[in-house]
Formats: sequence, structure tokens, C-alpha cells
Amino acid sequence: MELKIDAEVFLFDLDGTVYLGDQPIDGAIETLKMLTAMGKKVFFLTNNSSKDKSEYVLKLNKIGYPAVKEQVLTSTMATIQYLNTRRKGKSVYPIGTPTFVAEIKAAGIEVKEDADIVLLAFDTTLTYDKIWKANILLEKGREFMATHPDIVCPSDIGDMPDVGALMALLECSCGRAPSVICGKPYSPMAEIINSIVNVEKEKIVMVGDRLYTDILFGINNGYQSLLVLSGETTPEMLASSGIQPTHVLPSVKEIIA
Ligand SMILES: [Mg+2]
Repeated sequence: MELKIDAEVFLFDLDGTVYLGDQPIDGAIETLKMLTAMGKKVFFLTNNSSKDKSEYVLKLNKIGYPAVKEQVLTSTMATIQYLNTRRKGKSVYPIGTPTFVAEIKAAGIEVKEDADIVLLAFDTTLTYDKIWKANILLEKGREFMATHPDIVCPSDIGDMPDVGALMALLECSCGRAPSVICGKPYSPMAEIINSIVNVEKEKIVMVGDRLYTDILFGINNGYQSLLVLSGETTPEMLASSGIQPTHVLPSVKEIIA
């Protein structure tokens, strides 16, 4: 048995990397279990801010990997840490699911309509009214933040417009893009990791299927990056991209050969 990647900490994206919809990627669960048995630290990093971490723990458990809460890191966590350290005392108008709003409130962040910051999250409960209210605040010059930049979220029946698509809508109507984005590929997500693992950055690898979030996250933050071709990126997309990973494998199954 040979480990193809020389790392101590493995950060896994979820959709397109560990599973596709409700189905684990072939060999993914075995790889995760073997890495864990080898004493490697395994974490799951998702930009999806519509759900809380307990839902990911449940899903991973259901498909056969005994994940615990401490292994799951979301863009919501990175956003909360950013707000509580760099925007202390500022109020927020969130565009997000009830789960997201409950999470930020539980972290002590004030939520109100006439807020200091418009915070865009992946809102699968989006209404026109929310977009309109956000636009009014942005026209008044309030700060614009987003949890993550993904343009679409994959689903079994077709892509779902994600935060990146909503950013484009608001940029069109108010003339501004977010000044801060907290999830992959940006540094607030890495600050969470750097605060819980104590190894050199070169011994950390980000494993994912998306170039502009997962792989760029590795590059931006000094980690190794491993692109798996089990999700959104095709060999043609990789060949024509300016974002080039440290390693490329067909899927996470091949991490251990
Ligand atoms: Mg993915």
C-alpha cells in the first residue's frame, strides 16, 4: 500500500470529491478510513452555507464514514470568525437559510434589517423581498460580504444557482461586488484550519474537484493541492486553466494505491 501524497493533514471538499448527490464516489470511503487509520488528520471543507455541520456529519455517517463534528468546517464558520474578530459589534442583514441565520445569531452576531453589513449566503429560501432589501442597503453604501464565491452548486437534477450567481445579480443592480468573501479560496477559511492544526503548511493538502475554489485555496494559502477529476473539472478545463494543482488524480480512490 502506497500513499501517493506526502501530507499529514488532508482537507477534503465534499460534493464531486467524496460524494455525488447521495452516492459516495467509488473508493472514497475506503480511502478516508485508511487515511484515518494511518493517523492522518482528515477534515471536510465545504463552502455550502445553507446547511450546518451536523447535516454533513449525518450524511458522511450515512454513506459509511464515521465523521465527527470537529472534522467538518464550513464557510459559515469562517464567516462567523471573521465577523467576530474583524467586525466586532457590527450588525448584519443576511440573505441566508433559517439554519444560516440561526447559526450567526447563536454566535452572538446581531441580525437586523437596517444593518451595517449585507451578508450573502447560499439561500435556498431566497425571496425577491430579501434581494430588494439588500439592494437598498447597498445603495446606502453599507458593507457587502459573502460567505463563498461558488457560481453553482451541483445537484442530481441540475446545477443550483449559488452565491456567485447572486453576487452577479446584486453587482448588476447596485454596482458593487462584495469586499470580503470568507470561504474557499480566501484566507478566512484557512485561518480556521491554521488555528486547529499544528503542522507546516507544506504538509497540508487540499483535495477537491473545483479549480477556482478548492485548488486556488491550496495555492493561495501555501498548501499542496490535489485536483480529482471525479466532479466538475474535465482534463480539457484543466489544460486551459491558469490555476494548476500540485497533483492530479482520477479520484480520491487513487490517493492510496
Ligand atoms: Mg466540489
